[in-house]
Amino acid sequence: MKKVVIFFAAILILVGCSTKKENDKPVVVTTISQIADAVSVIAGDRVEVKALMGPGVDPHLYKATQGDLSKLESADVIFYSGLHLEGKMLDVFEKMQENDKTVKAISESIEEEKLLGIEMDAKLYDPHVWFDIDIWKTAVHQITDTLSEKYPEYKNEFSENEAIYFKELDDLSTYAKQRIDEIPLNQRVLVTAHDAFNYFGRSLNIEVRGLQGLSTESEYGLKDVRDVVDFLVGNNIKAVFIESSVSDKAMKAVIDGAKEKGQNVKIGGELYSDAMGKEGTEQGTYIGMYKHNVDTIVNSLK
Ligand SMILES: [Zn+2]
Repeated sequence: MKKVVIFFAAILILVGCSTKKENDKPVVVTTISQIADAVSVIAGDRVEVKALMGPGVDPHLYKATQGDLSKLESADVIFYSGLHLEGKMLDVFEKMQENDKTVKAISESIEEEKLLGIEMDAKLYDPHVWFDIDIWKTAVHQITDTLSEKYPEYKNEFSENEAIYFKELDDLSTYAKQRIDEIPLNQRVLVTAHDAFNYFGRSLNIEVRGLQGLSTESEYGLKDVRDVVDFLVGNNIKAVFIESSVSDKAMKAVIDGAKEKGQNVKIGGELYSDAMGKEGTEQGTYIGMYKHNVDTIVNSLK
């Protein structure tokens, strides 16, 4: 008799546990953490969010692992950035789309005329859209729309979260503009390893020079290094910046080249370009990483 009671008690405990399972929540899987952060802000704890690409990861070169594929398989919604940012994952997204899942490129809703074209081919656009706060709001709104359509019972909640967040993003935009204005006009040049900051530059009125092109896939040559060195020396620029997801080798070559020409150039600091900081830290959020970049740039160039 006692055994039977224990048996039923065990079953009750098991049943009790399973109804409280966390994984009852819809699962949203994203590529870069910038998107995961936006999903967490909009959906709060209504969904479980997983980002495939953590700190220091370069999305241009990233290939999905076996573990990623099973995460994507079990996802209810998949968000990726698009515009060929995740250049090695396009076939994966296509395959997932066949499975009747919601798969969205968040750059899809951005008007073409707001995008920066890549020279040579007008049909290719710069994928680093998160660095223009206004454009990023359009991408975030795409997340709100997609989740509201999929989970209409939370539509109002998602909209309210978006309204609060947009106010914070507007404040961030004001802060960034005010801070960049502290840099004297003749020093307002951002030199980085790869060309991730063109939207940043356009929206905040700072000239941008990348050594490596829009994707880290393209190699830089000696001529690229020489051009940047000449530019730094010619314009008396005192600092260049490294990126958390790109090797600092190229920037070191630039600094050495400038030194040979008698100009001391320092590393102004590490910026978050395509990846954000560690989860749970301020720089692991979109607003925190943006602020970090602005402060690092301004403090080195002003
Ligand atoms: Zn990039």
